[in-house]
Amino acid sequence: MRDSARHYLQTFLSVVQDLSRCLPRRPRPLRLGTLYAGATNICNARCVFCAYKTSTSPRGHLPFEIFKKAADDYVALGGRSISFTPTVGDPLVDPGLFEKIKYALGLKSIERVNFYTNGILLATNNNYRSLVDLRVPEIHISMPQPDRSAYQKIYGVDAYPQLLEGLKLFLEYNRSQGEPCSIQIDFRLSIPASQIVKTADFVAFIQPHLSRKVTMTYMPNYDNWGGMIQEKHLLGAMRMRRIPTVKTVMCRRMEDVAILWDGSVRLCACRLQKTEFDELVVGNLELQSLKEILQSPKADAARASFRRRELLPVCRDCSLYETTWF
Ligand code: SF4
Ligand code: SF4
Repeated sequence: MRDSARHYLQTFLSVVQDLSRCLPRRPRPLRLGTLYAGATNICNARCVFCAYKTSTSPRGHLPFEIFKKAADDYVALGGRSISFTPTVGDPLVDPGLFEKIKYALGLKSIERVNFYTNGILLATNNNYRSLVDLRVPEIHISMPQPDRSAYQKIYGVDAYPQLLEGLKLFLEYNRSQGEPCSIQIDFRLSIPASQIVKTADFVAFIQPHLSRKVTMTYMPNYDNWGGMIQEKHLLGAMRMRRIPTVKTVMCRRMEDVAILWDGSVRLCACRLQKTEFDELVVGNLELQSLKEILQSPKADAARASFRRRELLPVCRDCSLYETTWF
C-alpha cells in the first residue's frame, strides 16, 4: 500500500475510534500487558521524530537485581511477554543487557522476548554474535533509508557506517546459524517507501537477506510525544499522526508495565514529554512488589484519569492513544 494510502487509512480508523468511544460501551476487563524492562534510558542517536533529545531525565542502566525482581514478580502475576525496549534509549548501550536477556529466555512461562534498537552498536564487542548465539527470538532495527546523509539528518548522528557494518555482520551471521533470530527492519523514511528498493545499499546489503525471518516495515506517520514533536520537526515525506479527540476510555498502553532504571514502575512504556519520571510512575520495586504497585490506589487513579476526564499531562495531547476495542 502506498505511503499516503496508509496514512489516510490510519487517520480514518482514528476518526472511527473517536466515534465509537461516543457510544455507550463497556471496556473489557484490565489485562496484564508486556513487561518493558527498559535496560537503559541512554541513547546514542538524536532522532528528529523522538523526544529523547529534549528529555531531562536522570540517566542510568537498569541493575540486574532490580530486573530479576521485576521479571519474577511479573511471571508470578501470569505475565508472558518481556521487552527490553525502553521508552527512550538504546538497549545495546546497556553493558548488562545480555545477562538480562539470558535470564528472561530462561523463564519457562515467558513466550515472547524482544527489543528495538537503532543498531549502531551491533558490531561493537561482537554484539550481533551474542544476539544470535543467545537465539534472541525477535529483534527490531529502526533505521532511515540506507544513506549516510539521510542518517545524519533523521537520526541526528553520523553513525551510518557503524550501523551498516553491524547490520551486514548480523544478517550474515544470523543466516549462517540457520536464522535463530527474527529480524524486522523498521524504516523511518523521509522518502516515499517505494524508493527504498532503489537505494544502492538496500539492494546490496539488505535485499539479499530478506526471508520469512528477516522482514521490513515502514512507518506511515509519526506521533507527537504528547506535543513535544511537531510537523516542523519532521523531514521530507514524514507526516504527523492524527490526535484522537475522544479519550474517555483507558489507553490500552497503560496495561503495559515499564520498569525504569532506578526500579520505578510506570504505566505506559511508550511515550514521555520531558521525562519518564512523571505522573505515570506509580511505585518503586525497591520498596514494594510489582503486584502491590499495580494494585495500588495510585495506579488505579492513573487508569481512572481517562474515565474521569482528568487526563495526565503526557496523555492529554498524545497522538499514540489507543483503546482496546480495535
Ligand atoms: S527513537 Fe530511539 S534511537 Fe532515536 S533518539 Fe529516540 S530512543 Fe534514540
Ligand atoms: S495516551 Fe500516550 S502517554 Fe498516555 S498511556 Fe497512552 S500512549 Fe501512553
